[in-house]
Amino acid sequence: MFQKVLIANRGEIAVRIIRACKQMGIETVAIYSNADKDSLHVQIADESVCVGGEKSAESYLNMENIITAAISKGVEAIHPGFGFLSENSNFSNLCAECGIRFIGPSGNVIDKMGNKSKAREIMIEAGVPVVPGSNGALSSIDDARNLAVKIGFPVLIKASAGGGGRGMRVAYNIDEFNNAYETAKSEAVNAFGDGTMYLEKYIINPKHIEFQILADKYGNVIHLGERDCSIQRRNQKVIEEAPSLIDKELRDKMGEIAILASKTVNYENAGTIEFLVSGKDFYFIEMNTRIQVEHPVTEMITGIDIVKEQIKIAAGKELSIKQEDVVINGHSIECRINAEDPKFDFRPSPGKVGLLHVPSGHGIRFDSFIYTGYQIPPFYDSMLGKVIVHADNRAEAILKMRATLEELVIDGVKTNQDFCYMILNHSDYIKGSFDTGFIVKAIDNLLGYDQYE
Ligand code: ADP
Repeated sequence: MFQKVLIANRGEIAVRIIRACKQMGIETVAIYSNADKDSLHVQIADESVCVGGEKSAESYLNMENIITAAISKGVEAIHPGFGFLSENSNFSNLCAECGIRFIGPSGNVIDKMGNKSKAREIMIEAGVPVVPGSNGALSSIDDARNLAVKIGFPVLIKASAGGGGRGMRVAYNIDEFNNAYETAKSEAVNAFGDGTMYLEKYIINPKHIEFQILADKYGNVIHLGERDCSIQRRNQKVIEEAPSLIDKELRDKMGEIAILASKTVNYENAGTIEFLVSGKDFYFIEMNTRIQVEHPVTEMITGIDIVKEQIKIAAGKELSIKQEDVVINGHSIECRINAEDPKFDFRPSPGKVGLLHVPSGHGIRFDSFIYTGYQIPPFYDSMLGKVIVHADNRAEAILKMRATLEELVIDGVKTNQDFCYMILNHSDYIKGSFDTGFIVKAIDNLLGYDQYE
């Protein structure tokens, strides 16, 4: 096992990874930007190195400084967490060149699955069902429009390098096409420095269901069941749960396809195969070649620590869990708590954390990095943490999440906590009758505006 690991991230995921390392007897090195010197991940790591300025490009995306820190501290491996460099094949390759283990797949695999249009091509070849659309990347706007007419509107124009719901636009008809294409492309160029685009049929109100994969270097691949991440705002997840409400037949079929998809690219480490589900039909949309924000719901229902598994896999250990050992137990829900103001179009609300009261108890988990008096820097993601509950069944998990949100106090900044609470009380959510269109449909009700009509 590794003696020392560097965590190339910040926020709650850095804290989550440092905790896992400590529990495995591994020493930890945190990195931080000028804006993060008081951050919790710096305080709980054994050692820490400042790698640059407050802008991500100067610090958390600064490969050279991070590698230099890793070498000078004598670490054997780097955990990239999510976001930042986690899906950067150059970084994975650079680690390998410097004799440092990247806790994730090789650059070659990231290249195949991290590029969404390339992944589509590979999946089509392997017989994995994908949303009808372009074979790979689009060559020009004219070809794209012709293809859209052939597939039929509405269509979704997506960035190959896209992530976090950015770089995609719907065109409902041909008149909207050029504008949607140009807007999506320029957003992709700005956000990812890559304007390669591809096209998919726009599925109306599907469910987003994804499978958690673990794969070792010896070709063993298992899945840990699925998560329903349909509660989204602007294509970004807000509430996730596991298991989903699909039946066993569909679960088994999708699980098999998820394993096939992973094996096709000789995947190694933890990864997620994302699908859209419409009735009995399901379509691959992308693979995330890293740990995901919502991984705790899977941990709660399987009892498997996914971050520890990632570290063991990277250290060359064979998976100790077989598919038949994976037993789903009860139900888990996660709410992402963001520093944002729902009443003002969810605008970011950084500030200083005042009184903080974190609920606890059986089957309740708060993965976060905030503490009383902590000044939240305005430069990074607005997620403050995740509330996760686990209960015997979905109805009890909903009650537990409501009770937990009722008790949680984060003073000093505006958050979406009440917004999540309203979702947990919405009759369609409770019935399980929801899809990716849920928040758009229910928004007035969720914000409490319809009470005044
Ligand atoms: P990102 O990598 O930016 O998260 P994804 O491809 O994973 O993008 O899609 C994010 C979300 O966008 C999906 O969960 C779904 O709600 C919506 N979406 C993506 N592709 C389609 C599609 N073809 N039809 C309908 N909705 C889609």
